[in-house]
Amino acid sequence: MLKNLKVYENEETRAEVLRMLRGYNKPYAPNHWHVSKLVCCQRAAYFWWTGTPWQPEDMDAVQLLFSRGKAHHYVLEVYPNKNIEIWKDNVVGHVDMRGDRPVEIFTTTVGLNRVQVPLAVPQVFTMKVNQLKCYLHMLNESSGDLMVFYLFGDYSRPIKPELKVYTMEFEEEQLRLHWKYRLTIREKIMLLANLDEVPDETGEFYECINCGYKYKCIEFLQERRALEAIGLIERIKDGEVILE
Ligand code: SF4
Repeated sequence: MLKNLKVYENEETRAEVLRMLRGYNKPYAPNHWHVSKLVCCQRAAYFWWTGTPWQPEDMDAVQLLFSRGKAHHYVLEVYPNKNIEIWKDNVVGHVDMRGDRPVEIFTTTVGLNRVQVPLAVPQVFTMKVNQLKCYLHMLNESSGDLMVFYLFGDYSRPIKPELKVYTMEFEEEQLRLHWKYRLTIREKIMLLANLDEVPDETGEFYECINCGYKYKCIEFLQERRALEAIGLIERIKDGEVILE
């Protein structure tokens, strides 16, 4: 042990840093849409649109997760043309950066082993691919890059991060129809907001993990899980699902 050394955890400074990272987030009802809200859980988009307070179970943990993502983005945004604001149909999007094509960046703890072939990307990173599709349509382009920073590579030892760039080429019609569909979701949510009715459609299961609107969804999610369990039991009874 070193003599004359004092080490202690400084909770006060930690709290101050977290406060500064968080900024001042007063709940507000927005007046235009963001691409990210057109592709996420519809319930979350509804709560955001109606200015519902964002109250995650563990605010510090969520703040640190956001900070980690932002820090990685900052380092990975290597092209000078970055954080490009684009608009279409009163929806705003922010393209992470642009090299030869628009680039959407995603950092993830998902293992690279989940993406055995590039064609699996839309299934594994559905939300991000949908976001990229929106940007491409807004920009009137048909190909873009999804750049995925796998924080822990494929989890084999020794752990090494891995970076992959998936160039995706779409047909214009496919992008147009996708955008049209996203706009119908926007219309639906605004209509439901006027009726004070929360939509039933959720997003990817992982969206719930750190969601600050979970306190609004607990009963709904419990009921849904119960219904899913009943459905599964029925399917087992009908012989559609066989347990081995
Ligand atoms: S808790 Fe889940 S279902 Fe509810 S708003 Fe959040 S992401 Fe959607």
